[in-house]
Amino acid sequence: MNESVREMSPRHGTRILVVEDESQMRRFLRTALIAREFEVIEAVNVREARLAVTSHPPELILLDLGLPDGDGIDFTREVRSWTLIPIIVISARGREDDKVMALDAGADDYLTKPFGVNELLARIRVGLRHATRLATGSVRETVLKIGPLHLDPERREARLNGQLVALTPIEYRLLLLLARNAGRVLTHQQILKEVWGPHYTHQTHTLRVFMAQLRRKVESDPAQPRLLMTEMGVGYRMRDEERLFDQEG
Ligand code: CA
Repeated sequence: MNESVREMSPRHGTRILVVEDESQMRRFLRTALIAREFEVIEAVNVREARLAVTSHPPELILLDLGLPDGDGIDFTREVRSWTLIPIIVISARGREDDKVMALDAGADDYLTKPFGVNELLARIRVGLRHATRLATGSVRETVLKIGPLHLDPERREARLNGQLVALTPIEYRLLLLLARNAGRVLTHQQILKEVWGPHYTHQTHTLRVFMAQLRRKVESDPAQPRLLMTEMGVGYRMRDEERLFDQEG
């Protein structure tokens, strides 16, 4: 194993449910996950997935959307109605609508096929970390640190390389929301609802304008953002600390 030192090994036996009807993809996921000491359970359709979720509750679900007996988005909604188990959708390329629907239905993230093992593991780590924070209620409002950007929710302050950044209240709320969800993608709708309110969920243009403003304030090169990433046709993701370092070099 020549993974980087930061490769955090999961708590032994962290159980992941893989819901995927393609056997090749299942094999790829199984091999990758077992090598990292995850416990893997598999389901090839919605019926099996439903059974697995209740009989062997996993700590995270990897979910294909196109399943022979149903739709992953409906399954996401169903699971979300009773549990916060992180769900990472693994979807085919070029189906932005599917991704948005899955995220709005309660999925935590998505991976576009084909994807590499490192990307997969990084997303799983973010998902598990987020779940732990929710479960332990440790949403302690300490200073959030994402590379050069430090956010202090108590003081409502943002600092970049130690320097105070002047932000409007909306810009601050937007930045804080993305930072609290660092590593996770948020859809346009989710962001608009959180920052502006439920009646503004179609104002994607407004959001774009504010994101451009924010990038001018916190990115060293707003044209090549390193913190505030665009997820084409879906939304935005603040890169998490770990990925930021992976970028170096
Ligand atoms: Ca499929």
